[in-house]
Amino acid sequence: MNSNCILAEIAEALRENQTFVVMSHLRPDGDAIGSVIALALALKGAGKEVTVWNHDGPMEKLRFLPGSDLIAKPPATPQDFDVALVLDTSTQPRLGDSLAAVRKAKLWINLDHHISNTGFGDLVYIDVPAPATGQIVFELIRAAGYPLTPAIADNLWAAIATDTGSFQYSNTSARTFEIGAELIAAGVDVGKISEQLFQTHPRRRLELLRALLNTMQFTCDGRAASFSLPLATAAQIGAGPEDTEGLIDTLRSTEGVLVAAFFEELEGGRVRVSMRSKDPRYDVCKICAQFGGGGHILASGARIKGGLATVEAQVLKAISDAIQQQP
Ligand code: AMP
Ligand code: MN
Ligand code: MN
Repeated sequence: MNSNCILAEIAEALRENQTFVVMSHLRPDGDAIGSVIALALALKGAGKEVTVWNHDGPMEKLRFLPGSDLIAKPPATPQDFDVALVLDTSTQPRLGDSLAAVRKAKLWINLDHHISNTGFGDLVYIDVPAPATGQIVFELIRAAGYPLTPAIADNLWAAIATDTGSFQYSNTSARTFEIGAELIAAGVDVGKISEQLFQTHPRRRLELLRALLNTMQFTCDGRAASFSLPLATAAQIGAGPEDTEGLIDTLRSTEGVLVAAFFEELEGGRVRVSMRSKDPRYDVCKICAQFGGGGHILASGARIKGGLATVEAQVLKAISDAIQQQP
């Protein structure tokens, strides 16, 4: 998906309008949450009226971020805005209930880095090489001439650090480190925020990892690894959606593993699949697209109808086919 505008045009649209709703995808990660809060704070600083919605509301583990109290669940009665800003969200249905809560917006702006973005909206800016939507938001805030306050810097750090795996993944560029340096200069306390983001998990997350490792399977001669979470196990542990983030990295970081998959049973007879690859030849966005999902070449997901065992078998077959297609 290509962009149809440059950031300067989006900056102008921000300057020219007054009421904004800022939204991101359901089951939000640090990039989704950090990006929306950062942009919302910048707009509020410029005297705009800003509403921030997420289908799942603020995530408990990201409540420490300054400005997280701005995030609300979308209301049942739809509202009108000058501008609807959609961040880090590849398709409109990924907005969940936020989509129908916008009755009318004069302008829809789509700002993202997913290769699978469908290009919805009036002003579309998709930067696939950008490692995080937070990096694009940084450039937009600069283009608009808004000040980088310590609160905005913290949120952009959370966004970028989440999607780059703490500045480690291959999409981390020289520009990412330059931005990191500017964020630190603007007030980010790296040790503190890293601890809050990555080193402060509830004990139930460890219990969850134990349960997941008990289901671990290696297929394709050890080139694929997966584990799965039945609803009953999640209930027994008391684990919620936000406890699962990042656990798949245990599989991905195992020697010899090319593709990792995590299957999570959802209410309503569906399964959420999370997938990671270590090598762009094994494009997990393509595999997930076969099941109606998407994301990035090295990190993607899908929500698939069916029971846990059936979905697992279908997806593991698709992974095996993708691995076997390579020499
Ligand atoms: P996750 O495995 O949930 O961390 O997601 C990895 C990447 O895939 C993220 O960039 C998500 O936005 C994207 N993604 C996850 N689930 C879906 C889905 N059902 N449809 C489209 N993209 C998804
Ligand atoms: Mn995201
Ligand atoms: Mn992202």
